[in-house]
Amino acid sequence: MSSSSLSDAASLLHWYDRHRRDLPWRAPPGIPPDPYRVWLSEIMLQQTTAAAVVPYFARFIERFPSFAALAAVPEAEVLAAWAGLGYYARARNLHRTARIVAAQGLPRTPEALARLPGIGTYTAAAIAAIAFGVPVVPVDGNVVRVLARRHAITESLPGALALIHSAAQALAADPSVASRAGDFAQALFDLGATICRPAEPGCVLCPWTRACRARAAGIAASLPRKAPKPVRPHRYGAHFWLADDAGNVLLRRRPASGLLGGMTELPGTAWRSDPWPIAEALKAAPMKATWHPLGEVRHGFTHFTLSLSVFAAHVRHIRADGFLCPAAALADEALPSVMRKCVRLAEQASPGRARPGMLLP
Ligand code: SF4
Repeated sequence: MSSSSLSDAASLLHWYDRHRRDLPWRAPPGIPPDPYRVWLSEIMLQQTTAAAVVPYFARFIERFPSFAALAAVPEAEVLAAWAGLGYYARARNLHRTARIVAAQGLPRTPEALARLPGIGTYTAAAIAAIAFGVPVVPVDGNVVRVLARRHAITESLPGALALIHSAAQALAADPSVASRAGDFAQALFDLGATICRPAEPGCVLCPWTRACRARAAGIAASLPRKAPKPVRPHRYGAHFWLADDAGNVLLRRRPASGLLGGMTELPGTAWRSDPWPIAEALKAAPMKATWHPLGEVRHGFTHFTLSLSVFAAHVRHIRADGFLCPAAALADEALPSVMRKCVRLAEQASPGRARPGMLLP
């Protein structure tokens, strides 16, 4: 049968068999998928690209090769292994889910999966389809883009989502998906990631090039349309690098709940909407010392942009709230990306004391 006479679902599967991406969490063709690897990769891939996830996935699989192994370690160990991937609530939920699944097993339906911590509608559908072959089509950002274009849905998001979900359901009902639900979900992801890219869709290489209505109308790159974004607010803070003669740095643990909950940080001020005048910021310094301004770190969170002033001081002995960490062991701490930026700034400013290069990139 020529590919032009196949249904959308069948032609996409045909394309996938020749062009699938080789990713470390994917089972090779003909090998049943490992639900633990599927679940772990789907949680890691939330808000993160496959390229960024690959090294973390390899480390996790080596250190925590099963639900039971992950459930058996303390949360701090999971947070430390996750450090740098961002969105740390995911790591805490990952650990909570591992403990539930180690005791009760992993459910197989999207509805039951969505009741586990950190698993929303999309992730539940992805795990059910890929790990257990349930014929559902998970709709993530890639799939939204591909289906909006295939059907030339010109309404702006989020209003367009109802039509996009209908298109996904129609695909899930195609007989060729019934026996290959996992492959089909991954084929859609691959099409979005490698061909139907956001800015430059590679329509000539696409298995849907003849059927695609946006390509025919010459509007593919402009879809999906989005409602204008609200301006992201800006917040400000100051953090303090305090080192001692023994080569330690002062750290503290953030409260267990809330943004970056349970992660490690350099001591600092609250993050607020007004910039901190230096004199006011220094009142939050962990102890009296000669503080030097090192510069500013900027970091983008989902809902706001953060600017942090970083100050450094060196004392003989640290006497302040928090805990001491040898500078050479900072890489093992659960420092979120924004704090790693602060530490790197301190390393660059005082290379003899801070031992540059000790942190992970
Ligand atoms: S033909 Fe082009 S726009 Fe349409 S689905 Fe394929 S890559 Fe996307």
